[in-house]
Amino acid sequence: MMVAPLMEASAKVSLIFEPGVPDKVNVTITRGIKEAERFYKDSFGITLPKDLEIVVVPDKAAYANALQSMCKKNEEQAVKEAARSGGTTCSGGIVIPVSKNMDRMFFVAIHELTHKYQGAVSPSNRERDIMWLMEGGATATAGYIADRCGVETLQELWNEYLDKIRSKQVPPLRDLRTFKGHNAAREKYPGDVVYPKESLAALELARRKGGNSLYHYFLNLKKDNDSAKVFEMTFGTKLDAFERDFETELEWTLRTLEPSYRTERLGRVWREKEDKGWEGLYTRRGNSSLFDAIWTRKESEKVKGVLIMHLSGNKAFIESRQQSNGRELDYEGTISEDSRTISGTFWPPGSTGPILRWEATIER
Ligand SMILES: [Zn+2]
Repeated sequence: MMVAPLMEASAKVSLIFEPGVPDKVNVTITRGIKEAERFYKDSFGITLPKDLEIVVVPDKAAYANALQSMCKKNEEQAVKEAARSGGTTCSGGIVIPVSKNMDRMFFVAIHELTHKYQGAVSPSNRERDIMWLMEGGATATAGYIADRCGVETLQELWNEYLDKIRSKQVPPLRDLRTFKGHNAAREKYPGDVVYPKESLAALELARRKGGNSLYHYFLNLKKDNDSAKVFEMTFGTKLDAFERDFETELEWTLRTLEPSYRTERLGRVWREKEDKGWEGLYTRRGNSSLFDAIWTRKESEKVKGVLIMHLSGNKAFIESRQQSNGRELDYEGTISEDSRTISGTFWPPGSTGPILRWEATIER
């Protein structure tokens, strides 16, 4: 058996904390970097090919200085960027300013380091081909690592980003595909909405294909010059179609976000049975009224869909949309007094056909 040498020539990451950076930040960032290095090593066998310097600075002024010296920005660019960004990755290294929100520092460290890992495997700067995926992927990956380390759950992260774009003007995902489009949107839309939108899209991809898929995309870039094809190869859906469907689903999610006093009744998981032998598993998305449904029949038949739940008193009306079999269904039902079960009828929209029955248990 061949034994790999213990000391591989692996690049060195130097963490530099400028004077004035609180110890607490030092601990958080060091942990973020270690966890990210471990994630890329364990999941993909990847270490950075070049030595890297990460500089943590105490304030915006020091941030602007570092952007000039490390990232070769002119003074005007540096001051502007320092005012609005929570971290920067450039060929000279990574600069992270201490932020008011200390809890975010763990995410920022992993986000920025992830850009280095994205760049390490992408041929000729192609990591920027789908800009929203590069940026959103970096935050969503940080979310996966944070979830694994018990820092914050993915659900909490999802809800946090939903809150950031709620009732705000938000650019369509399609406009954030290019580097130019991403930067133009940051100028055009007030408030911090571009990164949250990009992160939500990446979290949605990860929800469908797993957290590792976000990096597999970058690993796959060398297989084809067309990044849209690589996207399809990695995520099993066309880029255009995903951008369009995500827009619709996000709109539904935002529209149906329930105030917390109403969320209890919807529960978290529904186990359903209906006529014709189908059994459904409905899983709620955060505190929205959107559920992901999977119906199975016998061993081999499986249909997926998205449910929009409307509750009024003890009555429920449910729209089943985006079904993988291309069909749509409407359900109505009455919730039992103890709120644990629901039963009613369902039909294809517009049909007057036979009355079909369904029932479900609601788990909280
Ligand atoms: Zn970034």
